[in-house]
Amino acid sequence: MSTISKATVLSVKEYGKEVREYTLKLEKNHYFEAGSFLLLTLEKKDDYTRWPESRNFSIASAYNKTGIIKLIIRQVGAYTTRIFNELQIGSECVVKYAFGDFLLPFFDKKGAICCLAGGTGIAPVLSFCEQLKEGGMQHRLHVFYSFKNEEELIDLDILKANVPVGQLHLFCTRQQMSAIPHRRIKEEDLQKGGLDYHAGHFYICGGETFTSTFKTYLENSGAENIYTDEW
Ligand SMILES: Cc1cc2nc3c(=O)[nH]c(=O)nc-3n(C[C@H](O)[C@H](O)[C@H](O)COP(=O)(O)OP(=O)(O)OC[C@H]3O[C@@H](n4cnc5c(N)ncnc54)[C@H](O)[C@@H]3O)c2cc1C
Repeated sequence: MSTISKATVLSVKEYGKEVREYTLKLEKNHYFEAGSFLLLTLEKKDDYTRWPESRNFSIASAYNKTGIIKLIIRQVGAYTTRIFNELQIGSECVVKYAFGDFLLPFFDKKGAICCLAGGTGIAPVLSFCEQLKEGGMQHRLHVFYSFKNEEELIDLDILKANVPVGQLHLFCTRQQMSAIPHRRIKEEDLQKGGLDYHAGHFYICGGETFTSTFKTYLENSGAENIYTDEW
C-alpha cells in the first residue's frame, strides 16, 4: 500500500538553470526499494483520498531511517516551473510513494548491475548506489552516464565513491571537459565494458530515444534482463 506524507524541503541545490536537487524530510517514513518513484503534489488539502494533480519523480536516494530523501527535477513545463517557484527551503509539499518496477534484482545477488543514464535519468542510479553500498555489493555496479555540460553533472562525488574505478563511464554531450569523452554513449562503449549480457541486469533511464536505442541494442545482443524507465 502506498504512503501519503507531508515532505519539508531541507535544501535545494542547483545544477545550472534547469535542474535542481531537492532534499526533503518525510513526515511519514516507510520502507521503499531503490529505483522507486513517488508522486509529488503542491496542492494543499485537508484530505488526500482524492489525489490531486501531481508529477512523478524517481527517488534519488535509498531508504534510510532519517526519512530524508532526494529528488532531481528538470524544469520542463508548467508543473515543474511551479515546483521551482514554490518549493524553497522550509516549504512543504505532499508525496505519495512508493511506485514502480525499476528495481534491483530480488533473487540474483551476483550478476552485474549495469546502468545507462541520460541527464536526470541518473536519479534512480543514485539510489542503487546507496542500496548496493548498504549490502556491500557496489562491485556489481557499472554506470554509463551521459550529461549535457559540466553544470549538469549530478552527484559525481556519490558516483565516484560507489562505482568501482574502471566501471564509471562518463560522457559529456555539449561541452569539452578534460578526460571525459565529448559525445553520446555508443554501443561500442558497452561492448568494451566486458559485460556478460546473459547474466547481467541492464537498467536504462533517460529520454525516449536514449531508452529505445539501448534497449534495442541490448535485446539484439542477447541481454535477458533489461529494465527501462523513461520520461
Ligand atoms: C516514472 C517516472 C519518473 C520520473 N522521474 C523524474 C525525475 O526523477 N526527474 C524529472 O525531472 N522528471 C521525472 N519524470 C517526469 C515528470 O514526472 C514530469 O512529467 C515532467 O517533469 C514534466 O512536468 P511538467 O508538468 O513541468 O511538464 P508538462 O507541462 O507536463 O510538459 C511536459 C512536456 O510537454 C512539453 N510542453 C508543455 N507544454 C507545451 C506546449 N504548450 N507546447 C508544446 N510542448 C509543451 C514540455 O516542454 C515538456 O517536455 C518522471 C516521469 C515518470 C513517468
